[in-house]
Amino acid sequence: MTTLNLIVPCYNEEEVLPETCARLLDLLDRLILAGTVSEASAVTFVDDGSRDRTWALIETLHQEGPRVRGIKLSRNRGHQNALLAGLLSAPGDVLISLDADLQDDIEAIPRMLDAFERGAEIVFGVRHKRSADTPFKRYTAKAYYRILRAFDVEILPGHADFRLMSRRAIEALRGFQEVNLFLRGIIPLLGFPTAVVEYERHARFAGESKYPLHKMLALAFEGITSFSAVPLKWSTWLGAVVSVASLGFGVWALFIHTFTNLALPGWTSTVVPMYFLGGIQLLFLGLIGGYVSRIYSETKQRPRFIIERTLDSSHRDGIRQVDFWRQYDERIVDQLLP
Ligand code: UDP
Ligand code: MG
Repeated sequence: MTTLNLIVPCYNEEEVLPETCARLLDLLDRLILAGTVSEASAVTFVDDGSRDRTWALIETLHQEGPRVRGIKLSRNRGHQNALLAGLLSAPGDVLISLDADLQDDIEAIPRMLDAFERGAEIVFGVRHKRSADTPFKRYTAKAYYRILRAFDVEILPGHADFRLMSRRAIEALRGFQEVNLFLRGIIPLLGFPTAVVEYERHARFAGESKYPLHKMLALAFEGITSFSAVPLKWSTWLGAVVSVASLGFGVWALFIHTFTNLALPGWTSTVVPMYFLGGIQLLFLGLIGGYVSRIYSETKQRPRFIIERTLDSSHRDGIRQVDFWRQYDERIVDQLLP
């Protein structure tokens, strides 16, 4: 029978955690009772370096029920990395990632499992309504998905990180070693039979968003620069057009200067193209800088997350090494292992 593991990244989520955990355990009980998933199914909370009582709560919840597991990252690494830590280190035949605030409708999970049983290795949760989000978030999200598509990034509109992945898909994901993570851009590249399950996005039931505007913008930029070189092509084209135009302008200015006596002190003709070209250059230097900084971070090959502790039922004391570490430094792990 299928073993399900629900992966929930948490950053300062003390307000929602107990309720979220209760609801997820209730769902698991129902699924186990119905014979859909095995007794070994679990909920894994990934604490993304929270500053509040989130980890203490996870420990308590784990003490109360072995079905609750925990992974503690050594510091805040952001939602995408926390999610990856959970996906790459949690056991289970099927992993489903969802947000701690349960904005993603957990009643869609049985339908996702159903799609898995029918052969899908990846099932995308897609919001068909987001009346709970602010109009600003709705419109910017919509525009953003459009831009990504225009930039040839394969992405499913309305899909965030609520998805089911089979063990096979997870192992394929392990092969993607990029440091600049934009999971919803990577997953479609894995291939495999996929399915889509629609759901309605709820409001956060407690606490506030951990995705302020600057984090959202950073993720948006990541999505474009990690998956598309189209902006670079634009810079080439725009550069070409501007060069041709200014050549024409130069010829015209020379003509005025040589064959007429209209050549005024020439302030306009000097200053206008100077500003214009300066602006364009700065714009695209910035853009290229964005790519260069990504090359920089990719070549450093730093670990994308570091696990400090894990909690699972077989090691109640909570200290267990995860194989994932081996990838980074065999020696450190050997020293730590008894
Ligand atoms: N999150 C995280 N690390 C961060 C920021 C957010 O793990 O640095 C988690 C957060 O706890 C939640 C999920 O990412 O489970 C989505 O965050 P949130 O609900 O605040 O974002 P929104 O729904 O407002 O986009
Ligand atoms: Mg949320």
